[in-house]
Amino acid sequence: MSELLATVERVARTAKFTLGPELEAFEAEYADYCGTAHAVGVSSGTEALALALRGLDVGPGDEVIVPANSFIATAEAVSLVGASPRFVDVEPDTALISAATVEPALGPRTRCIIPVHLYGRAVELEPILSLARERGLKVLEDGCQAHGAMLDGRRVGSLGDAGCFSFYPAKNLGAWGDGGAVVTGDARLADRVRGLRHHGQRVPSEHQEIGTTGRLDALQAAILRVKLRYLDAWNDQRRHAAAALTGALAGAPLTPPAPVRPGGDHVFHQFVVQTPDREGLRRHLAERGVSTAIHYPIAIHRTVAYAPVGLPAGSLPVSEALARRICSLPVHPSITDEEITRIGAAAREFAPRGAEAPADGLSSPRGR
Ligand SMILES: *Cc1c(COP(=O)(O)O)cnc(C)c1O
Repeated sequence: MSELLATVERVARTAKFTLGPELEAFEAEYADYCGTAHAVGVSSGTEALALALRGLDVGPGDEVIVPANSFIATAEAVSLVGASPRFVDVEPDTALISAATVEPALGPRTRCIIPVHLYGRAVELEPILSLARERGLKVLEDGCQAHGAMLDGRRVGSLGDAGCFSFYPAKNLGAWGDGGAVVTGDARLADRVRGLRHHGQRVPSEHQEIGTTGRLDALQAAILRVKLRYLDAWNDQRRHAAAALTGALAGAPLTPPAPVRPGGDHVFHQFVVQTPDREGLRRHLAERGVSTAIHYPIAIHRTVAYAPVGLPAGSLPVSEALARRICSLPVHPSITDEEITRIGAAAREFAPRGAEAPADGLSSPRGR
């Protein structure tokens, strides 16, 4: 905390609040961390996605593949650039898209696929990347919940055409307010996003195209520079906590997160379990002082905002079933072993209603 306050004071004394050396330094450090040639700091994760889409020339008339099980921002960014989100279902064990769920949705208007490394778990990207290469599609990774996660030895965000990150305070790497970044190996794309976030200017007062106010603040960049140094340690603590929690839940009547596949990684932004009696579980845990949350209770295609897309109930059944079954248990870098033991004990005492009813097929991991 004192390190961060000193940082705020240092930036305040320079009175350089937009663009400038703090932002440039953070961009260089975050690009280096992600293993990409470029990082561009922007005002939020949503703006990162929208500006990257614009930078990839995705717009009206284009379709973009988006998981139905994600935070709504993934789809909003597509809509904000005038393109259409094409919602696809996810795998029942990982809750992530796969080449198998994406391929049937590809059509003549598809321009881009947005895999979301949801909950911090890396999407198995290689089959999706090869599908995209075959069809000439762009791949934009939504890493907003997965800063630092590795996939086959590389950081997520560095494998597709670009990666997008949010620094909303509750993310694994969080600012003291909103922020985001686009990382890419493509110098032209980085340059384009740099212009778009600053009213289309690369040179002051030369507006090359219609942009927006979408910069990452210098104060946030300075704070993120400090916190970035702790990110790997915090992610290790999250993995450690998740492993301990998985152990503590042994015998509890719920489905823990699927094991991470070889070469993949999970940085546990969320620890998501499944149960057919979700409300019962939440009540049971709340009575024992354990707070839970749901990420997310309504699949995106079933939200009021996306009702105009016209996908009826049952159209993306795995995402819709997950929306009814999932429950996020506490996981964060500073959770203690004692808290984990307490959560495990409380969950093991849980007696789900309708437990004798046949499972709806989602609790057993599907063979591959
Ligand atoms: C948080 C988040 C976003 C959006 O980030 P904001 O900074 O809140 O705009 C996008 N996608 C996913 C998966 C997220 O979790």
